[in-house]
Amino acid sequence: MQKIENIVQELIAQLHQAPVEELLRAVVDRFGENVALATSFGAEDQVLTDMLCKLSTAPRLFTLDTGRLPQETYDVMQKTREHYGIDIEILFPEARQVEAMVNQYGPNLFYRSVELRKKCCYIRKIEPLKRKLADLEAWICGLRVNQSTTRSGLQTIEADTAFHLIKISPLAEWTTDQVWDYIKKHDVPYNALHDQGFPSIGCAPCTRAITEGQDIRAGRWWWEIPEHKECGLHLRPDGSLGPQEKI
Ligand code: SF4
Repeated sequence: MQKIENIVQELIAQLHQAPVEELLRAVVDRFGENVALATSFGAEDQVLTDMLCKLSTAPRLFTLDTGRLPQETYDVMQKTREHYGIDIEILFPEARQVEAMVNQYGPNLFYRSVELRKKCCYIRKIEPLKRKLADLEAWICGLRVNQSTTRSGLQTIEADTAFHLIKISPLAEWTTDQVWDYIKKHDVPYNALHDQGFPSIGCAPCTRAITEGQDIRAGRWWWEIPEHKECGLHLRPDGSLGPQEKI
């Protein structure tokens, strides 16, 4: 982990004031095949996909297909592949683990308790993510500080202590308006659900539209209190989000 933290410090010293495109270029130049964008095809991920496709003809992107995604997400997945002419690696959960979980707890276990919801997220998202991240030195995410209370400690460059690699969130400081200005200006394809009141989109049974003035992630696991609203992809081992110090 020490080595990772040293690299993080180097990157922060080199890039802490760099524009997003410059940051991405430096990260791709440095890590090559060993850095990839984790995309769920949300607005921020689409911005980063557009930028990466302008930097490289073969950017590395991967996504987690939980088996419970909305059709609109598959539609934008397909559209993104065609629009940019790129491959996007699709990771699936282990079928036997899903079978065992659903047979034991039922298909809608996530509504029964936070523990069962987290179990579902672990099997469908975190386990495949862990497998993927084990092959990488750094991953790129579309997280932003103002997306939710659980993301207030987010930094642009950090040591990911949960998965033991470097995590880059180039849009950490961006506002929602900046994201959408970029999408419109560059004609970036986006998930149709964003136009139907879904600023944050996850699995179909765990996401609903929000009303004006609600927190951006209020529609995710809406039956839980805000502090529980992470699936574990972006949590530290102690359950908080971000590094122990400034990342
Ligand atoms: Fe399961 Fe819901 Fe988590 Fe998707 S978001 S993995 S359906 S609990």
